[in-house]
Amino acid sequence: MQDRNYPLFLYAAERMLYRMTEEDPKYMEVNREITTTRLGYEGELRSDQMLRRANLPLGSRVLHDLTVRVFGEDPIQIDTLVITRYFVFIIEVKNISGTLELEQQPALLKRTAQDGKVSYFQSPFIQLNLAVDTLTYWLLAQNIKIPVIGAVLLASKFAKPQFETGLPVHFIREIPDLLRKEMNNRPSMVDDAIVEWIASALRSQDEPYDQFPLGHHFNCSTEALYLEPLCTHCLGRLETRTNRMGTCVKCEKRQWIPYLETLVDYFLIFRKTATLTECSKFLNIGRTKTTQLMKSPLFLRRGETNRTSFELNRSSVQISRDGKLILPGGDE
Ligand SMILES: [Zn+2]
Repeated sequence: MQDRNYPLFLYAAERMLYRMTEEDPKYMEVNREITTTRLGYEGELRSDQMLRRANLPLGSRVLHDLTVRVFGEDPIQIDTLVITRYFVFIIEVKNISGTLELEQQPALLKRTAQDGKVSYFQSPFIQLNLAVDTLTYWLLAQNIKIPVIGAVLLASKFAKPQFETGLPVHFIREIPDLLRKEMNNRPSMVDDAIVEWIASALRSQDEPYDQFPLGHHFNCSTEALYLEPLCTHCLGRLETRTNRMGTCVKCEKRQWIPYLETLVDYFLIFRKTATLTECSKFLNIGRTKTTQLMKSPLFLRRGETNRTSFELNRSSVQISRDGKLILPGGDE
C-alpha cells in the first residue's frame, strides 16, 4: 500500500487563497473548499492508518484517488479501493461531525452541528452505490467475476449517525474487523495475478479529473490575484529587489526566489498552457533563464520549435505531507 498523495487541488487552492485579497468575491468560496478538501484528506489518512492495521493478505492491493470511466457514463471518483482475492471493496470516507441523518427525495445527508447549525451534503450512500455499480460494470466488461462491495466510513469521533439500520456505514476504527469478516465469509474468486491485473488496469485507465487552472474552476477573475512569488516557508508575499533573492514581508526570511514553485502556480491557477514569452513575462525574468527553468521535468513541451508551448507535467508534480512542492532532483 502506497502513501496517499497530498491532494494537488488542496495545494493549488491554498496558494491561490494567499494570492487573493479578503475582499475578493471568491475568497470565501475558495476558503470553504480548502476546508472541505482538507477535512476529507485528513479522514482518508486516518482510514489508511486503519487499513494498515487490517493486515490484508499478501497480494492484496490498495488504490487511492481513482477515477473509473465506463463508456457512455460520467466518470466516478473512488478515494480508496481495496482489491483482494475475495472481493473488491470501496471505502467512502466521510469526515463530518455532528448528528447525521438521511433525507429522502432528494437524498441528502443532513448534519446538525453542536451549535444547532444545519448543513446538507450529497448522500454518501448514493455515491457509494454509483461507485459499486460502475466498478461492477467495468469488471464485467473485463470478464472478471468478483463481487464489488463497499461501505461508508465515518472518520470523525464526533459523528453521531442516526440512520436506519442495515445501511453499510461504520466508524473507521471498524475497518480491520469489517474486512476480516468479509474475508472469512467469502470464497476466493481470483488469484493474485488477477488482483494485480485489476489494479494495474484500473490505474492505466485512470485519468485524473482536471480542475486546473483553478481561476477557471472557481470562475474567478485572475487579474486581481497577486502574481509575485510566495514565501517558501509561510506563503507570505515575497519582496524581490534583485532577480535572485527575496525577503518575505510576513516572516521576514530571506531566500532564493522560488521560480519553479511560481511557475507551477502559473499553470495550476492561471492558465493551462503558455509560451516561453508568456512564462518569461509572468516571472519577470529573461528568456534564457526561463528556458533553463522550463527544462525541469515539472513541465511538458508541446509543438514545433517556433510555436512551442508548455504545460504542467501532472505525473511529476509531487507534494509533500506538509503541503510543499517536491522539486525533482532535489534542491536547486
Ligand atoms: Zn515567509
